[in-house]
Amino acid sequence: MSLDSKIPNGPISDKWTNYKDHINLVNPANKRNIDIIVVGTGLAGGSAAATLAELGYNVKAFCFQDSPRRAHSIAAQGGINAAKNYQGDGDSTFRLFYDTVKGGDYRAREANVHRLAEVSANIIDQCVAQGVPLAREYGGLLDNRSFGGTLVSRTFYAKGQTGQQLLLGAYSAMNRQIGRGKIKMHNRHEMLDLVIVNGKARGIIARNLVTGEIERHSAHAVVIASGGYGNVFFLSTNAMGSNATAAWKIHKKGAFFANPCYTQIHPTCIPVSGDHQSKLTLMSESLRNDGRIWVPKSLEDAKAIREGKKKPTDLSEEERDYYLERRYPSFGNLVPRDVASRAAKERCDAGYGVNKTGEAVYLDFAAAIERYGKEQAYIKGLDADDKKLIIKLGTDVVANKYGNLFQMYEKIVDENPYVTPMMIYPAVHYTMGGTWVDYNLMTTIPGCFSIGESNFSDHGANRLGASALMQGLADGYFVLPYTIGDYLAPDIKTGKISTDLPEFVEAENNVREQLNKFINNNGKHSVDHFHKKLGKIMWDKVGMARNAEGLNEAIHEIAELREEFYRDVKVPGSIDSFNQELEKAMRVADFLELGELFAKDALHRNESCGGHFREEYQTEEGEAMRDDENFAYVAAWEYKGKPSEAVLHKEPLVYENIKLVQRSYK
Ligand SMILES: Cc1cc2nc3c(=O)[nH]c(=O)nc-3n(C[C@H](O)[C@H](O)[C@H](O)COP(=O)(O)OP(=O)(O)OC[C@H]3O[C@@H](n4cnc5c(N)ncnc54)[C@H](O)[C@@H]3O)c2cc1C
Repeated sequence: MSLDSKIPNGPISDKWTNYKDHINLVNPANKRNIDIIVVGTGLAGGSAAATLAELGYNVKAFCFQDSPRRAHSIAAQGGINAAKNYQGDGDSTFRLFYDTVKGGDYRAREANVHRLAEVSANIIDQCVAQGVPLAREYGGLLDNRSFGGTLVSRTFYAKGQTGQQLLLGAYSAMNRQIGRGKIKMHNRHEMLDLVIVNGKARGIIARNLVTGEIERHSAHAVVIASGGYGNVFFLSTNAMGSNATAAWKIHKKGAFFANPCYTQIHPTCIPVSGDHQSKLTLMSESLRNDGRIWVPKSLEDAKAIREGKKKPTDLSEEERDYYLERRYPSFGNLVPRDVASRAAKERCDAGYGVNKTGEAVYLDFAAAIERYGKEQAYIKGLDADDKKLIIKLGTDVVANKYGNLFQMYEKIVDENPYVTPMMIYPAVHYTMGGTWVDYNLMTTIPGCFSIGESNFSDHGANRLGASALMQGLADGYFVLPYTIGDYLAPDIKTGKISTDLPEFVEAENNVREQLNKFINNNGKHSVDHFHKKLGKIMWDKVGMARNAEGLNEAIHEIAELREEFYRDVKVPGSIDSFNQELEKAMRVADFLELGELFAKDALHRNESCGGHFREEYQTEEGEAMRDDENFAYVAAWEYKGKPSEAVLHKEPLVYENIKLVQRSYK
C-alpha cells in the first residue's frame, strides 16, 4: 500500500482556503442522518464533538474518566500558541509555521503545519468567545509570554491552568449539545476495538468500566482522540490513566503507526525521588521565561551540594555555570525542549548534578525576583537600594505569574523555591509519534480519523511548548469538521449501521476472549510489576539518548517481557464488574507491543533529530546530526501480526517553503 498524504495543490498559503472552497459539503438536513463516534473528550475530542454536534451530526462521545473535564488535557499548565502578533514583536503566520517546522527538526509535513499556523488565531477568538479567562494585561488586552524555540511572545495562558480553562470551554460547548441530545456522552467507557465493515470504520466495541458490560456502538465514521502514549515509560508527566489502547487497536486493524520513536522529554520536571513513584510532575516551561538554569562550575562544589555540605545560595555568580546561556547565547534558557533536556543530561552525566542521585540541575528565580523588585520600586517611587524591599516586591510579581506552580513544587519537595532554587530534571512528557493521518486527518482505514496527540501530528521530531493545545483545538474546532464532511458526503443515504452485523459479533468476541484470558491467567505478579519493568527498559535503552546496541537489547527484552506478562500476570476480580486491574492489564498489553515497535523505529532511524537522539549521530559539540538525504521521511509502520514483523512505509517530506538546514539555536 502506498501512502497518499492528499496534500492539496497550489501555494502553501492558499492550500487550506482552496481545499475548503472545493470539498463536498453535507447539507444540514442530511447531517441529521449521520452518526459519528468520538473516542476521547480531552481538548481534541471535546472540541471536535462539540463542533460536529453543533453542525448537526449525531455524536456518540466516549471517555474512560467519569467526566470529560478530567481528561489529561486538564493538566496543561503553560499556555497555547497563536500567531496574533499582539506584542508587535514580528510574529506572523509564516513565522509560527517556520518555528514549528524548525522546532520539529524538519520532520513535519509542511502543508499541515501551515494550516495549523493559519487557524491558530481563530482558536483564541473561539475560546475568548466561550468565556475562557485567558490572562490579560492591566489595560485589558490578552497577555502573552514566551516559550522555547521562538524569538517572539505568542503564548496565551491562564495562569498555570491553561489546559483546565480551555477544557472547561470545550466542555461547556459539549454540554450545550449533550443537553440538546446531539451528543450522547458515554463516560466511564473504554474503547477496546474498532469494527470495520466493508473496509470502512463503522463502530467500536467498548467496555462499561462501572458494570463491566461489553457494548457495541455503530456510526458512519470513528474519530480517535485518545491522547498520547508517554506512559509506555511507566513514569511520565502524563495522567496515570493515559494509554495507547485506542490508537494501538486501530493500528492492529490497519491504521499505520507513524514515527513511534519521536518522544519528548521535558527539561523542567521535578526529579525522580525513588522507586515508590508512579508519576512525575511537570514544572511548566513558562518558568524558563524567568528562571535561569545552572549547575556548579566545579565538580567539588557539585559534590559538596550533593552531600549537603553546601547550599546553592552559597555559590557566587562566578561559581555557577549557566550552561544554556553559555552554549546558546541567542535563545539562552528558551532553547527547545529537546536541546535543554540533552544539555541537562550532559551536565549531570559529567558529574555536575545537584541532588542525591546526581540527576538534577537548578532553575533559579533570584535574578528575576531582583529585576522585578527593582522595577516595582521604580514604579512606586520606593527605595531601589533596599534589598529586603526589592526581594519582597519581586517575590510578589513572581508569585502572581507562577504562584500555583511554586506552591505545587513546595508541596512535593518541601523547599521554598522563592528562596532556594528549584531542582529539575528531564522526564517523559509528550509523544510526537502516533497514528499516521493524511491531510484530512484520516488514518489508513477509511472512515477512521485521528486527532490531537493521538495522531502523528504536526510537530515532527520535537514539539514546541504550547503547541499541543493549539494542535488539538485546531484539529477539533477548525480542521476535522471540514474534512470529515468531505468524507461523509457520499454516506447520506446509507442509513443506520446495524450492530448485529457479523463484524460486530466477531470484534466483541475477540474482546471478551482477551478479557477472560487475563482473569483466568492466575499468575504471580501484578500488572504494575510488568509495567515498571517495561518502563525501565524504555528509559534506560530507548530514552533520552539511544544507540544501536541498547535498542537491539531493548527489542529483545521487551519481547521476552511480553511473554512473561502473558504467562505470569495476575488479574483479580471478574470481567463483569468494576475492575481497575483488568483495565490496566489491557492497557499494559498494548504498551508491551508498542514499546517494541518504538525501539524498532528508533533503531531503523540512523540519524539524530529532535527528540530522537542516537549517540552514534552527533556533532563534536554533542548536537543532534540529521541525515536529510536518507531520513527526510515519515516512518509509517503497518501491523503484520507482531511488532517485530511490522512493515515500514515512507512518506517523503518535501520542503518547498523552508530551507532544510542543520538546526541551530546559537
Ligand atoms: C503536565 C503536562 C502539561 C502540559 N502543558 C501543556 C501546555 O501548557 N501547552 C501545550 O500546548 N501542551 C501541554 N501539554 C500537552 C497537552 O496537554 C496534551 O498534548 C493535550 O492535552 C492532549 O490532548 P488530547 O485531547 O489529544 O488528549 P487527552 O487530553 O489525553 O484526552 C484523551 C481522551 O481520550 C480518552 N480515552 C483514551 N483512551 C480511550 C479509550 N480506549 N476509550 C475511551 N476513551 C479513551 C480519555 O478518557 C480522554 O478523554 C502538557 C502535557 C502534560 C503532561
